[in-house]
Amino acid sequence: MQVKDVHPHILLRFSLHWVVPSRKLELAGKPLAASALAHVLVNARGAARLRGGHVWVYRSDIVSAGEAQPGAVVLVRDERGKHLGTALYSSSSQIAIRLLTREALDSFDALLALIRRRIAEAIAYRERVVRDSDAYRVIFSEADFLPGLIVDRYNDVLSFQVLTQAMDDHAVRETVIQTLIQEMKPEAIVERVEPHVRELEQLPVRESGVIHGSKAATLLTMNGVQFHYDAKEGQKTGAFLDQRENYAAAARYAHGEALDVFCYQGGFALHLGPHCSHVTGVDSSRPALETAERNASLNGREIEWIEANAFDLLKDYATAGRQYDTIVLDPPAFAKSKKALETALRGYKELNLRALKMLRPGGILVTCSCSYHVSEGDFLQTLGEAAADAHRTCRILEKRGQAQDHPVLLNVPETAYLKCIICSVSH
Ligand code: SAH
Repeated sequence: MQVKDVHPHILLRFSLHWVVPSRKLELAGKPLAASALAHVLVNARGAARLRGGHVWVYRSDIVSAGEAQPGAVVLVRDERGKHLGTALYSSSSQIAIRLLTREALDSFDALLALIRRRIAEAIAYRERVVRDSDAYRVIFSEADFLPGLIVDRYNDVLSFQVLTQAMDDHAVRETVIQTLIQEMKPEAIVERVEPHVRELEQLPVRESGVIHGSKAATLLTMNGVQFHYDAKEGQKTGAFLDQRENYAAAARYAHGEALDVFCYQGGFALHLGPHCSHVTGVDSSRPALETAERNASLNGREIEWIEANAFDLLKDYATAGRQYDTIVLDPPAFAKSKKALETALRGYKELNLRALKMLRPGGILVTCSCSYHVSEGDFLQTLGEAAADAHRTCRILEKRGQAQDHPVLLNVPETAYLKCIICSVSH
């Protein structure tokens, strides 16, 4: 899954893809074995990982993949022959298998039935947890026990994305699409293709586009705020669904003059509007700001948009002694790998330090990190260092994460990636 500065339209923020190079495979149209599922043997480390509750086994922990075809549904065993579960196999990803169930499925048809059931369960879960929104993530891959599948709802349009060989299989895709149509009755389904992901999974090239119905644009409403959504190439719009509950939380504390840094199409800025005397949104992307302005008009709001590099702008504003009552920081993922952690933490420290210096006493800082590699502990420590350097005292009002439609699996830490800390600041 991807980072938001590179693929803002996909609205995915982190990557679960590691890949070993091998030859290109032609998968399109090839049916998976209808019965007699292949067996994959995993070593002690892979078995321990699955028994410990994780759902991935890396390629280096595969002892033998037997007859498993790319994207096959396979039965997983340890070296002593003990059954561990049924999984989806990838011939190219570093994540060689993604567990689907601890049961032993006996056929490809059983897989399709399981997929149908899981989709229905994912939809039912959202019916319980999503409030005041016709836009939310319907299926969040591993966290909905459907590894490699992402489905978002934007009012009457669904966005569909497959991230693995198994989910790209023709029969699997058809099952998913037909189940979504039956259960959700969308006006349209749009497929979002991430060429980089398809390349990593060695899948044939496919274009993004409408795969059911005909519309690709709609209006969505979350927390009473309207946004344009348009999946068409060149005018991709949408909202960061994972921040939906954080928008509402930020609005509860926002007051006075507000600055929304890394504002994209105005997610936070539009929510802060009714509670603040003046709102400024900053982003380096002109197209994002153009949509932000259209969103502001849609909601009858006056917001000032500034196209700038956030680091430069914050430096200039802090030097110039500008002050605010509410500042939101929601940068793209700085740490895209473990190695980049130190640099990322320096980036977070600089941003937060400058923001803290600009907050008036009683001010509110809403600060986010969507880098999976930056833990909540790392993030809080960096924030603490920034506060000390800025000579500010921060009281944590809320420690938040991604909205509930992006569930987190306890034993799959990769499913938790978004941090959103809300602080009140005194001098
Ligand atoms: N807060 C937004 C999401 C932010 S996504 C929302 O809730 O909708 C991150 C944004 O950072 C993207 O819009 C990207 O254009 C912007 N961005 C990336 N690097 C930047 C930089 N150096 N300065 C300003 N904006 C930047």
